[in-house]
Amino acid sequence: MSTLQDDEFDTIIIGAGFAGLTAARDLAQAGQQVLVVEARDRIGGRTWHESRLGTGLELGGTWVHWTQPYVWRELNHYGIGTVPSPEFATAIWFEDGERRVGDFNDLLQALDPACTAFAADTRIYFPQGFEPFTNPEAGELDHLTVDDRINELDLTEAQRNLLRSFWSLNFNGSTAVGAYTQALRWLAVANGDWKIMWEACASFKVDGGTGRLADAIFEDAAHNGARFDFGEKVNAVETSSAGAIVITPSHTYRSDHVISTVPLHTLGAIRFSPELDAPVYGAVERGQTGLGTKVWVKILGDPTPFVALGEADWPLNFLQGEYPVDGGIIAVGFGPDAHALDIEDGDDVAAAVRRLLPDAEVAAFTGHDWVSDEFAGETWAMHAVGHFTESMSAIVEGRERLRFAGADVALGWGGFIDGAIESATQQAHRLLSDEVAS
Ligand SMILES: Cc1cc2nc3c(=O)[nH]c(=O)nc-3n(C[C@H](O)[C@H](O)[C@H](O)COP(=O)(O)OP(=O)(O)OC[C@H]3O[C@@H](n4cnc5c(N)ncnc54)[C@H](O)[C@@H]3O)c2cc1C
Repeated sequence: MSTLQDDEFDTIIIGAGFAGLTAARDLAQAGQQVLVVEARDRIGGRTWHESRLGTGLELGGTWVHWTQPYVWRELNHYGIGTVPSPEFATAIWFEDGERRVGDFNDLLQALDPACTAFAADTRIYFPQGFEPFTNPEAGELDHLTVDDRINELDLTEAQRNLLRSFWSLNFNGSTAVGAYTQALRWLAVANGDWKIMWEACASFKVDGGTGRLADAIFEDAAHNGARFDFGEKVNAVETSSAGAIVITPSHTYRSDHVISTVPLHTLGAIRFSPELDAPVYGAVERGQTGLGTKVWVKILGDPTPFVALGEADWPLNFLQGEYPVDGGIIAVGFGPDAHALDIEDGDDVAAAVRRLLPDAEVAAFTGHDWVSDEFAGETWAMHAVGHFTESMSAIVEGRERLRFAGADVALGWGGFIDGAIESATQQAHRLLSDEVAS
């Protein structure tokens, strides 16, 4: 049995999103004394399933897929299934400034030449999706933005614009900053197939909501003795050869090890002593590009599920009719810049929707501004130029007593729920292996 004091632990985990929950469960199951320190009063982090607009809606992370082995394993482990998003009867997109309407296959065909050309080199540079450093030549691409690569391709202007919009949707941010290596890494875990990649991130939801899976892991962790302290914002982490200290306004906790799972855009608010190593600090300074919007809208009228892709820089450049309801449909929209759309302002939201659907009458809307949220600061992490070569391996490595886990630092499905679980699984395993070895 452990001889640790009340506020002393083998490992302190900062954050109770999917990464923190997974690490807590795995370490507690292995017999460690574990504390999770979470700033919010809830688990789940950037996933948040709530009753809104009369139904259960995912305000953050939503879709999962069987190409995502870590989350798929967890779903199976806890006996949780998935439910499909609807098949889209109508598709809307824009070419040469003209609004086109067809079925979903027509949109796929319009996108295919450009998306296939963009994805063509995936397996050359990233032959193993979950081992991104396999081909050292990939690093030579890390100066290229997504836009740089789009401009290199032999495409028409209309194809280029469609491709830019597709990647601005994927990055939930600017393709002028987002790295081509990040795009290829994402394609690599979908075997270089852009259609599978798209399917993976917009087709299958957790039955009962992401909260159901988060609850299952949380209960498992707690059952195995992990302690969770909520409403505790970590301000400082100090590590030395003697151990680690984690400081919140009301507590000073001690442990042998710390795993930080906080998003990159909140990491800079924690004071580390000694300071973060230069490559890790570089990642904080550089930030990432997922700084956009997700909003739910109830549109009156035709309940037929649809998908609409607008221009890359529109406040909402994507809408997906998700839940047919009485008198209309609840759709989910994404835009690349949280500052370009006030999701609290009905006129602003309706205007953004009408650029895609000119006749739409928006009856209600809801969402969460993750970029302004002190404990997120971003949506899903899509890395900028330089991250892959200058920071990624140092963050994955961590340093004595301090490790980093989470979707923002994952090797495979970085930016996704799967990546959060992957990264936490690996860091917990490394920590336990090091313990055995020492
Ligand atoms: C709008 C949106 C849509 C998305 N769509 C999808 C999708 O469809 N599919 C998918 O797989 N992924 C999606 N994602 C991404 C996915 O939700 C995240 O990548 C994943 O949930 C991150 O998990 P995490 O544990 O790494 O980080 P987080 O979930 O961010 O967990 C970190 C935790 O740390 C806490 N914290 C932060 N700072 C401190 C501090 N100083 N002290 C204490 N605690 C702190 C936070 O409160 C949080 O609970 C989406 C994300 C967003 C925002």
